[in-house]
Amino acid sequence: MSTAAERFSDLVGRHPEGIWGAPGRVNLIGEHTDYNAGLALPFAIDRATVVAAARRPDRTVRVYSTNLDEQACANLDELADWDPGEFVGWSRYALGVLWAIKLPPPGLPGVDIVVSSDVPLRSGLSSSAALTVGIAVALDDIWGLGLDRQEIAKIAQQAEAGFAGTPCGLMDQLAALEGKPGAAVLIDFLSLTTELVPLEVGPLVVLNTRVEHANADGAYADRRRACETAAARLGVPSLRQATLTQVEQELNGQLQKRARHVVTENERVKQTVARLRQNAAVGDLLVSSHMSLRDDYEVSCPELDLAVETALANGATGARLTGAGLGGCAIALGTGADVLAVPLSKAFAEAGFRPPELFTVSPSRGAGRLA
Ligand code: ADP
Ligand code: MG
Repeated sequence: MSTAAERFSDLVGRHPEGIWGAPGRVNLIGEHTDYNAGLALPFAIDRATVVAAARRPDRTVRVYSTNLDEQACANLDELADWDPGEFVGWSRYALGVLWAIKLPPPGLPGVDIVVSSDVPLRSGLSSSAALTVGIAVALDDIWGLGLDRQEIAKIAQQAEAGFAGTPCGLMDQLAALEGKPGAAVLIDFLSLTTELVPLEVGPLVVLNTRVEHANADGAYADRRRACETAAARLGVPSLRQATLTQVEQELNGQLQKRARHVVTENERVKQTVARLRQNAAVGDLLVSSHMSLRDDYEVSCPELDLAVETALANGATGARLTGAGLGGCAIALGTGADVLAVPLSKAFAEAGFRPPELFTVSPSRGAGRLA
């Protein structure tokens, strides 16, 4: 919290009016289900983007990122004419929030914003939603817009999908908004409702492979298309309405594999929720999820497979890739980062992979005002 506040005072020359925060997230289970009107079970983590902000006397909005040591600037009066193509890189996420709010009426003042994040960028822990949700929550408060959480989630998603041009569902935003300590957020993308589920499973370790697959975006678009085609063939609005029997009888080849992942993954989410509510073990469901993502959805990679295998060989009761796959992070349950650190580094070194990064996360509070 202090970094954003301190940097705000240095850069702006006065104190911020308030400090807001929005966490990153880890998806426990329910992968590639969001755009299939399915189920996912993410939780907000104890790493967040902190936003220090205060009104300005003019109509300028200035956002400074301490992570990148860069500033993005825009004028609210020109908002209606903004073209995403005129903005580059991270400023599309930050200023995209203003664009997605759309309304700022003439009376609203400009704002100085300083953001500082300890969510690693581009690692699959959703630093992008932490940034857009954090800024949206701050602006809602400062401008007194009275937005509810669903509206804030949609604004943050619009900033990312509509302005920054990165297609995404609503999972990251809803997890960042609805998270609570000791809980995961069950999201039903058909009804767009959320429900808290107790998540008290001991240490949760994130294994960051630090791999960014060159074709990750292309693969994501390809999987989305395959799911749409599969649903159309089955004559259902989305794969949420498809059954495993239908998938096995009416589809074949690659399309069947893609659809089977989605249908079985929704079932695994339901089972995970039921077991967590009874305080029963869920590790095997995470392992099945990983195998389905690896074999049917084909979005794993050698680094993610090795991270999962090494975790399971060293005391983890469950492990799987988390996030869209083809790089990024895996999550492991039931063993500590201290236990996994040495074997994982060794296994990665032997395979000739970049040194991985490990840290423990715990289910934490969602976005809101901190001070
Ligand atoms: P992830 O959400 O998994 O971290 P993304 O590629 O979706 O990865 O989003 C990362 C992008 O979000 C960064 O490349 C940057 O443009 C933007 N971003 C996130 N957090 C910050 C931050 N604190 N400062 C500046 N830009 C950020
Ligand atoms: Mg992201």
